[in-house]
Amino acid sequence: MPTEREAGLNAVRAAARLCAAVRSEMVAGTGADKLDKQDRSPVTIADFGAQAIVSRIIGEAFPNDTFVAEEDSALLRDEANAMQLSAVRRFVEAELGAGDETAILNWIDRGAGEPGDRFWVLDPIDGTKGFLRHDQYAIALALVENGQVTRGFLACPALPHDGGTGAIFVAERGGGAEWCALDNSDFQPVRVRDTHDPQQARLAESVESGHTNRGISAQMQEALGITSEPVRMDSQAKYAAVAWGQADIYLRAPNARTPDYRECIWDHAAGWLIVEEAGGTVTDVYGAPLDWTRGRRLENNIGVIATNGHLHQQVLDALSALLPARST
Ligand code: AMP
Ligand code: MG
Repeated sequence: MPTEREAGLNAVRAAARLCAAVRSEMVAGTGADKLDKQDRSPVTIADFGAQAIVSRIIGEAFPNDTFVAEEDSALLRDEANAMQLSAVRRFVEAELGAGDETAILNWIDRGAGEPGDRFWVLDPIDGTKGFLRHDQYAIALALVENGQVTRGFLACPALPHDGGTGAIFVAERGGGAEWCALDNSDFQPVRVRDTHDPQQARLAESVESGHTNRGISAQMQEALGITSEPVRMDSQAKYAAVAWGQADIYLRAPNARTPDYRECIWDHAAGWLIVEEAGGTVTDVYGAPLDWTRGRRLENNIGVIATNGHLHQQVLDALSALLPARST
């Protein structure tokens, strides 16, 4: 039987290959055997395919574990989407060498598990807009035990590094964080940058302005004297950027248009552990620890701030002057 680490790595690697294969078939127009970008079919096919693969690999290795994932198969079960289901099957079969349509639909639906004492949580494609734009996206898988994230696996197929494109980050609670290129297993430790001076800090934030609050982040940068341009990336690749020192601060401030938005656990669990184990700190924007015991969303938290640790308090102090008082 594979270990948790082996199963998690196998799962996100296979899902990353599937996503890259789907993306390489994307075209701008509609073609009979190609995937039309306008109707979002590529992201649909890759989302479902990635979820089916990860569910299958984790389910086979740990049949008694609960699986919590973003997607369900309702759309794919609709007759109108038979072509998409058939495309999902084609891509899943290329990875697993197995999988009829009924099995695939059932694997996807294992993701409806209820978060409890021990569960795996998956975002099959985090940063779907980045996936469609040919920018960053990630396959994010984590294991949560007794309210703590204990393992995180983050595959970033489009992330550039010295040796090429595509990286995997993995962290174990208390065991540090590592990364390797997507196409090898040469793991190296990951460590946050040692920036103590906020003026030297670099900020990472969403490309999508609706997913954060650009006004607050601009004011926070001004308050801290940060002059470099923010690094804008889709997906939990932002956590990776902090973990390996390309950025020092990842701010996700509540957007004024969606004040009641609560973050989904699959958008943060893997990245949270990778930054913490790389020596950084992650809280919500008011400094509260992320509470993984409240179901599929971080109901007790608002926004997220991840830093290299050294800058965390200064960032929180700057934010407290900019954010509305926390309501209870
Ligand atoms: P990012 O790629 O970091 O911009 O984040 C992508 C994620 O943003 C998606 O997976 C959504 O779950 C999440 N999202 C959707 N709406 C909002 C919102 N109003 N505020 C914050 N995050 C959101
Ligand atoms: Mg997501």
